[in-house]
Amino acid sequence: MAEILDGAWVRRQIFDELKPRVGRLAGAGRPPGLAVVLVGDDPASAIYVRNKQKACADLGIYSEKLTPPASIGTDELLALIDGLNRRDEIDGILVQMPLPKHIDSRRILEAVDPGKDADGFHPSNVGNLVAGRPAPRACTPAGVMDMLHRYKIPIAGKRAVVAGRSDIVGKPMALLLLHADATVTVCHSKTVNLAEECSRADLLVAAIGRPAMFDARYIKPGAVVVDVGMNRVDRREDVERIFRGRADRLAAFDKKGSVLVGDVDPIDVADRASAYTPVPGGVGVLTVTMLMANTVGLAERRR
Ligand code: NDP
Repeated sequence: MAEILDGAWVRRQIFDELKPRVGRLAGAGRPPGLAVVLVGDDPASAIYVRNKQKACADLGIYSEKLTPPASIGTDELLALIDGLNRRDEIDGILVQMPLPKHIDSRRILEAVDPGKDADGFHPSNVGNLVAGRPAPRACTPAGVMDMLHRYKIPIAGKRAVVAGRSDIVGKPMALLLLHADATVTVCHSKTVNLAEECSRADLLVAAIGRPAMFDARYIKPGAVVVDVGMNRVDRREDVERIFRGRADRLAAFDKKGSVLVGDVDPIDVADRASAYTPVPGGVGVLTVTMLMANTVGLAERRR
């Protein structure tokens, strides 16, 4: 029976460790402060921001939400970021992506003070990641590494395959695994025979955004499988195919009209892997958790 890697368990442990650190900072003057910039009114982004603010509240981190309209220009947004860079009580700054198309996202990310870069997306922190120097790390891959360590999953010398090469997940994930001494292969949409590459992995990280694509052909028996994918599936026939025989998931679909599915086939992974992260309940909660860890770390470094 495959072991289930439980994101909520990891989150509880990290929160328990962060609380006294937040308390010490608050006792020494003021709690860590996170500014979240939400441009426009994209409903999905608004939900993500709400979750981030709730996590701040749970930990005693001061949070501030700035909501400029979608019509804001790049220069105005740069000025807003500059203001946050200058404010002493703000330790972390996060600009919720994606930004409206007319805004130059790269200039915005580069404008955030690297010492307040809560997401770890600033080019100088990406450089720090490449060089293995301490700095805030991209939250989702950092969460995956933390989870693997807490579950004592061996990484050194293992063959790791990361499917997906985005700047926010795939690339930083591959670098973190490399620093942990895995032998890393990175796959993407131009990879020839993805299943064959993946089926050699002792540790497979799936982060491409294709519901349940990684079936038995992609999974080496006994592998550890980390499913980063978060895909909403809203067709009953797809849900029936993906969750064959899982009456509970069909019932959930019938109630809500959609279900959340990872990139990995949920039935095959349970059959073949030695350990895996379920969707939901695996990696999902770790992104916000690591954002909190980054914010506390930045505050400690700044004081
Ligand atoms: P992107 O769309 O930015 O990147 C997807 C990557 O997958 C690209 O590198 C792309 O290749 C590759 N890819 C796409 N289709 C295929 C295919 N058929 N075969 C091989 N490679 C493919 O996505 P993100 O990295 O932002 O997110 C990936 C998934 O992770 C999504 O489901 C997203 O919702 C989820 N996610 C979950 C988070 C969490 O908190 N759990 C946080 C962030 C993301 P190429 O570069 O060649 O185009």
